[in-house]
Amino acid sequence: AAKRAGGGNYAMFESRMGTNAEEQLSLQSDLRLAIQGGQLALHYQPKIDGRRNQIRGVEALLRWTHPTLGPISPLVFIPLAERFGLINALGHWVIEEACRQVAQWEDEGLLMRVAINLSAHQLREPDLVERIADALGRHRISAERLLCEITESVAMEDVAATQRVFDGLSRIGVFLAIDDFGTGYSSLSYLRQLPARQLKIDRSFVSDLETSADARAVVDAVVRLSHALGLRVVAEGVETAGQRDILLGMGCDELQGFFFARPMPADQLLAWSLGRRPAGSHGDFS
Ligand code: C2E
Ligand code: MG
Ligand code: MG
Ligand code: MG
Repeated sequence: AAKRAGGGNYAMFESRMGTNAEEQLSLQSDLRLAIQGGQLALHYQPKIDGRRNQIRGVEALLRWTHPTLGPISPLVFIPLAERFGLINALGHWVIEEACRQVAQWEDEGLLMRVAINLSAHQLREPDLVERIADALGRHRISAERLLCEITESVAMEDVAATQRVFDGLSRIGVFLAIDDFGTGYSSLSYLRQLPARQLKIDRSFVSDLETSADARAVVDAVVRLSHALGLRVVAEGVETAGQRDILLGMGCDELQGFFFARPMPADQLLAWSLGRRPAGSHGDFS
């Protein structure tokens, strides 16, 4: 479970969760309070430009530190929020906080594109696009600073809602990515219709790269397909130099994973990116 949860410190708690209805009920009422008051945070994981070895942007990942139970994995509390009707409130908090942070980084001289994850329920929210446009406007940040990730399986689950949200967001200038690609069986003609910028190869293929010729064949094909469709390819879950080398050899555009950096609080990201930035350069952002 620790690995699946992203290697965080919440494995012990997670292992006995989701089994007990009573526990879930009490956890969801705790989550309600958490949304209102200070227990949520976004951590940010860099996406690295493969060729230039520079940061291209970050993915915002939601963190909940429960007052008595400690950190709880998003793989636990996001499904819980969906089940108990809290996911839109949670999603709104993420949109707001991500935009606030982009603006703060801009004030500090750091130009960063932030990716947020959207859930299936959020896609069906009628005013999602307006809400995002409103947050961008209030924080005075340009739409291209924001990227929304939607998993391939969610995109397949509700094709109409996905198309509507992708069209709406791309119209206002927000970037879009298909997340966890390779697990959801999407059709190529459908993919072609979505105004996405990035395709993120699921971690399961990346982790098998060094040992499985099949995984290499799939990733190689996905890289070619993406480039043929004009998409940038991002590999998630890169943990070793060997995986990095294979991905770079295949022409993968961006890499993300513990090999480069774990998700970190916003204040650490500034120091981390300053440490990597070549002297005289003012950020790499395009
Ligand atoms: P995801 O969007 O595919 O995010 C990547 C997950 O992989 C993150 O787990 C990240 O910490 C983890 N990861 C990154 N690099 C590595 C690596 O090298 N090795 C391993 N083993 N793991 C790595 P995390 O933060 O636990 O999030 C899990 C999932 O929860 C996310 O998968 C996403 O689907 C969901 N999630 C997280 N934050 C949000 C959010 O704000 N909103 C929504 N709707 N979902 C979220
Ligand atoms: Mg993601
Ligand atoms: Mg992913
Ligand atoms: Mg994933």
